[in-house]
Amino acid sequence: MMDPNDIKGKEHFKALSNKSGVYITNSFPIKYNGSTVGYVEIGQYSSVLLSTEDINFKLSINKGIGASIFLSLFIIIIISLYISKQFSVPIREVSNISVNLSNGDYNSRTSVKTDILEIEKLKSSINTLGEKLKHQDLLRKRLISDISHEIRTPLNILQNNLEAMIDGIFPVNTEQLVALNDEVIRFGKLLNNLNTLKKFESETISINKEKVPLNELLSSICDDFSIALNEKNIELIYNTKSGKSYNIFGDTDKLKQVFINLLSNAIKFSNVSGKIWVNLTRVKEEIIVSIRDTGIGIQKEDLPFIFERLYRGDKSRNKIEGSGLGLTIVKDILTLHSASINVESEEGRGSTFTIRFKAIN
Ligand code: ADP
Repeated sequence: MMDPNDIKGKEHFKALSNKSGVYITNSFPIKYNGSTVGYVEIGQYSSVLLSTEDINFKLSINKGIGASIFLSLFIIIIISLYISKQFSVPIREVSNISVNLSNGDYNSRTSVKTDILEIEKLKSSINTLGEKLKHQDLLRKRLISDISHEIRTPLNILQNNLEAMIDGIFPVNTEQLVALNDEVIRFGKLLNNLNTLKKFESETISINKEKVPLNELLSSICDDFSIALNEKNIELIYNTKSGKSYNIFGDTDKLKQVFINLLSNAIKFSNVSGKIWVNLTRVKEEIIVSIRDTGIGIQKEDLPFIFERLYRGDKSRNKIEGSGLGLTIVKDILTLHSASINVESEEGRGSTFTIRFKAIN
């Protein structure tokens, strides 16, 4: 019987002396008269690894695979370092900004550049937050100074006049007492307005919504102003198209307050012989009321603030009486009605306040 190992020693296998190939055998039984008398084992080295070239080829492939794994790892590391930097630098910056904001540095902003949309959004929202906090801080400071100014003025007048009376400089007569009483009344009005505002802002105000026909409400309010209009010889033009429905869902008394505040402002800030237009229109499901005057207008720098508590334009502060709460109350009432208010104004030419309500049928 032939030993299968003999074949390995044959000439054309000499190259495989390192025996690194895979040697596969198959054995077949030899049968004679129904019984197995022997086996033939046929063996061979796995076909790809038959020669030195094959082995070299395998080695070079292995080397190639190793090198490409190494290269890929290197590239992956470089790319991930780059990408993580793209994330980590702006995120670190945003987190620094938020720390600054929480420490009261409201001027802190980030300008770091990024191509990642989400980071860009995060960056712009932290900047917007900074802007808003700065604005709120400004308003808070202004509110405190305005409240103290509003309270100090009538108190000073009262104190000076009373002292003058005590010292005998001013006579104590009805005229003087009426003037002093006016100051006390003004002071009382301010506190009342502040109180109304407090109710709105603490959301304790109760509102009774019903169907309100705005055309009827507006025309009756315009009529109520006839005396005030006559006093300044102001012409009021009320415009609306009849036959249309101008119903909204709201609280009649509160809405009345809105139009009264806006119309009193229009009259208050109008010059003698001015004009006021009240327009009521409906565009699809929107009811639009605009109140336009030809009055003194509002300075550009005052415009963003006029709806804030106690804010009064510089011009009006000195010459025209007011508390700076009228428009804040207007805005609060309209917010309760999911309505919006916008203002357009040009100094010296006049102002237009536009309110948009959602119509009901
Ligand atoms: P007040 O009228 O008591 O001062 P408001 O809250 O009603 O307070 O108005 C705030 C400020 O907005 C006013 O001080 C004034 O500067 C400005 N303003 C409001 N309405 C008008 C208007 N129709 N024309 C000019 N300025 C206006």
